[in-house]
Formats: sequence, structure tokens, C-alpha cells
Amino acid sequence: QDNKKVAFVTGGNRGIGYELVKQLALKDFKVILASRDPNMCHEAAQKLKESDLDVSFVMMDVDDKESIRQAAITVNERYGRLDVLINNAGVYLDEYKRLLTMDPSILEKTMATNFFGAYHVIHSFIPLMEKQGYGRIINVSSELGAMREMSVQGTGAYKLSKLALNGLTQLVAAEIKGDIKINAVCPGWVSSDMGGPSAPRTPKQAAESILWLASIGTEGPNGGFFRDGKPIDW
Ligand code: NDP
Repeated sequence: QDNKKVAFVTGGNRGIGYELVKQLALKDFKVILASRDPNMCHEAAQKLKESDLDVSFVMMDVDDKESIRQAAITVNERYGRLDVLINNAGVYLDEYKRLLTMDPSILEKTMATNFFGAYHVIHSFIPLMEKQGYGRIINVSSELGAMREMSVQGTGAYKLSKLALNGLTQLVAAEIKGDIKINAVCPGWVSSDMGGPSAPRTPKQAAESILWLASIGTEGPNGGFFRDGKPIDW
């Protein structure tokens, strides 16, 4: 029991994140569901615990460096280890506004959550992985952040945030040592509050398409970008 691996999912209270928490717990991980809303994280974790899943929760707003630092301390005190870290929390705020005419705070806010949020989470949690020389980090990105998307107008703030997240994935991959791997993944178009009701994929299918990266071996990819298990262009 004590050798159970520990996984941490940001934005775990709804959408794809909630499914990631559930499926990781079904795969026998101890899972920490992180959410910025104390009631939501308690409720979501409680629902999963009622199905006998090994899920606990921690409050963390990825826009708030101090709450990230505190969450990392909590995970260290509670479990003393971290095996899988999933940067899933994200926002989509563009509403088809153009970069040149939108209120700049839309871009700033999007970068704060989707890019700096992931960066600060990695920065604070990676010592836990380095301590054990093992870890799998997954950045939930989007094909909209691929370079080829930059020549197509629309959702500019969101695209830039995922482009930067993809770059971060590659740069961190080159820096990390030991059996620690970091990869980016596009879950496809998923029905959630963000994806809307007409999206063809369920959060369950999305989580399945992400989670193979949580259990890759030493020979597995590092610094890659995937969709449905296959590498895609940056
Ligand atoms: P949802 O909008 O359904 O859920 C977003 C989650 O992120 C919520 O749990 C939300 O918490 C959390 N979140 C947002 N801001 C913060 C913050 N500052 N601190 C902590 N948590 C935060 O989106 P999805 O589940 O669809 O998306 C999950 C990820 O997948 C995102 O990174 C998204 O960009 C990516 N993705 C989604 C696609 C889709 O089609 N749905 C396509 C490609 C990528 P709260 O409830 O408090 O708001």
C-alpha cells in the first residue's frame, strides 16, 4: 500500500481534470485533486472517495504562486513523494476577440493561468520528483498552440498561451535529469464547460488519451507533443 504512486492534477474539480483524477485513482494511484475553490475541491474529492477511490484534495490557485508553494509543502508532508504531475488547469477567455483590439488583460490573464501557472507548478513540485529521481509531468496543451496555427487568425490569447506551454515543455525536458519526463498532449475537442456541448469527445475519452503518458517507462518520450498516442508537429 505504501508503495502506491502519487499523482497530482491541477483543475481537478471538473471537466477533463476530474476524469483524470478518477482514472488515475482507478489505476491505483493515490491522487491529489487540486482546485482553486475550497468547496468545489472538497465536493469533487468526496464524490470520488464515496466510490472507494484513494483521492484527497488540496486548494491551489495556479494564478497564485504562494498557494502553489503551499500545496507543494502539503504534498510533501502528506506523502513525501510525487510521481505524476498533470498541469490541466486552463482558461479560454478570447471569445473570438482579436489580439490588437481586445482588452490586454485577456491575454495577461490567459498567460497567467495557462502558461505561468504551469511554470510555477513545475518549479515548485519538481524538487519532490528530483528527490526520488523519478517523475512524469504532463502538460495538457492544445493543437491550437502549434506553430502552424499562428498564421490563422482567432483565439490568439489561448493559442499563445499553449504555444508558450509547448516551448516550456521542450525547454524543461532538456533541463531535467534522472528518470523524469515531461510531455505535452492535446486531448482533442472535448465536451466540457470549455469545449462546449457539441464537442465530439467525452472527458473520459480525453483522459484515456492523456494518461498513457503517466506510465511510460525509462525509454519513453521526453519533450514530446502528442495526440491520441501519436507525436504531432509543434
Ligand atoms: P474546463 O473549463 O471544463 O475546466 C477547467 C479547469 O481548470 C477547472 O477545474 C477550473 O477550475 C480550472 N482552472 C482554471 N483556472 C484556474 C486557476 N487559476 N487555478 C486553478 N484551477 C483553475 O476545461 P477542460 O476540462 O475542457 O480543459 C482542461 C484542459 O484541457 C485545459 O488546459 C484546456 O486548455 C485543455 N484543452 C481542452 C480542450 C477542450 O476541447 N475542452 C481542447 C484542448 C485542450 P474552476 O472550476 O475553479 O474554474
